[in-house]
Amino acid sequence: MPVAPRAHRFLAHYPDLMKLHFLGAAGTVTGSKYLIEDADTRVLVDCGLFQGYKNLRKRNWAPFPVDPSSIDAVVVTHAHLDHTGYLPLLVKKGFSGPIYATAPTKALAGILLPDSGRIQEEDAEYANKKGFSKHSPAMPLYTEADAVASLKQFEAVDLHTDTRAAGSVSFRYLRAGHILGAAIVRMQLSRGSSLSFSGDLGRSDDPVMPRPEGALETDYLVCESTYGNRPHDPEDVRTRLKEIITTTADREGIVLIPAFAVGRSQTVLAIIHSLMEKGEIPNLPVYLNSPMAVSTTDLYLRFPHDHLLGPEEMREIERDIHLVRSVEESKELNYLKGPGVIVSASGMLTGGRVLHHLAAMAPNPNNTLVLVGYQAGGTRGRRILDGETKVKVHGQWVPINCQVEDIGGLSAHADADEIVRWLATFEHAPLTTFLTHGEPDSSEALRVRIEHDLGWNVETPVLGEVAHLD
Ligand SMILES: [Zn+2]
Repeated sequence: MPVAPRAHRFLAHYPDLMKLHFLGAAGTVTGSKYLIEDADTRVLVDCGLFQGYKNLRKRNWAPFPVDPSSIDAVVVTHAHLDHTGYLPLLVKKGFSGPIYATAPTKALAGILLPDSGRIQEEDAEYANKKGFSKHSPAMPLYTEADAVASLKQFEAVDLHTDTRAAGSVSFRYLRAGHILGAAIVRMQLSRGSSLSFSGDLGRSDDPVMPRPEGALETDYLVCESTYGNRPHDPEDVRTRLKEIITTTADREGIVLIPAFAVGRSQTVLAIIHSLMEKGEIPNLPVYLNSPMAVSTTDLYLRFPHDHLLGPEEMREIERDIHLVRSVEESKELNYLKGPGVIVSASGMLTGGRVLHHLAAMAPNPNNTLVLVGYQAGGTRGRRILDGETKVKVHGQWVPINCQVEDIGGLSAHADADEIVRWLATFEHAPLTTFLTHGEPDSSEALRVRIEHDLGWNVETPVLGEVAHLD
């Protein structure tokens, strides 16, 4: 396949070329932010928080690279905080334009963003009370009220509909799978060229989400590479969960499953519920302890066409699972006697109620901690997965004596094989494919693979890099 010359070689001759700034998710999986400058128009695609390593999280406090009030619009791919969590701060710093999202993404952001503000306020408060913060006083990045204020700027956009973002830039959403409402963005720029973003790409055979739409026609592509260097374990998730829950129940232990409130929690509950219905695991109490996950479960009923679970199945899950709503109930769960299952957020043990359960459950070898999603470098989830025998929670060291299991098959991200198969459906090779949203080893492995298998021109931009588009 002929490879087109790289567009930015001609920069010297065309000083006003369109620019794509990589402001996040370059060399890492979090902080997704891409700024497109096309003539006088500035559009931001995604506006996520950096998470994980402390040096990454510190970036959330840095000044925004351009004046937020100069940005005309934001186009969001999906509601996860590493794609939306910076929006309240962007608004606080002066951004006043529209924030475009699909209807389920808008609804999810209405749950996730205020919760993010609340968690940051609580964490700052807790740090001040216990006096373990190096900053005095510890401050939240933004508050729940800031997050609520930013929601007013959201505008819902239908899939497969051309929408003008601002000035010369229009866009269209396609299904990405991944989580409820997640979308691929295909943008049309002023000179007729097109630029597409995979967002987070879902699996080709997820039990709950539809497969990503293929056959894109685009001049430039920004593609995620979270699992660029490894295939998902083809293990049967159902069988693994059945084994883990049964053996832990035999020890009268608790199975603690940290899960993203959006998506993974519902999938895990759907599988556990079905195992119990069919008598494949003992009847035991199952708790969903995340106000956000509880509200999200309601959205699956409100948007029945955006996922694969039937309304009947959803209603049974809501009926049979203990939905924990108050802080008091959540605290009581720390004294739960096994056997039992607790599903709680956050999925990488970076915050939320699951941390209290981790502190209470991890020292007991009868319990099992089950990690079911991607664990970014620097998070407690990754440290435990890498075999660390103690982690710090709220300033205290917690010994990890419990069993630790990792179920890779539950990831909401396409793996390398699935990404390459998705790319192979494209109408033609993009001029340049930029790989982002991956740790350096992942992006690099996927670059080599795409160049070899498809003969495409692939780049792995670093944070702050600017690509000049034709
Ligand atoms: Zn995501």
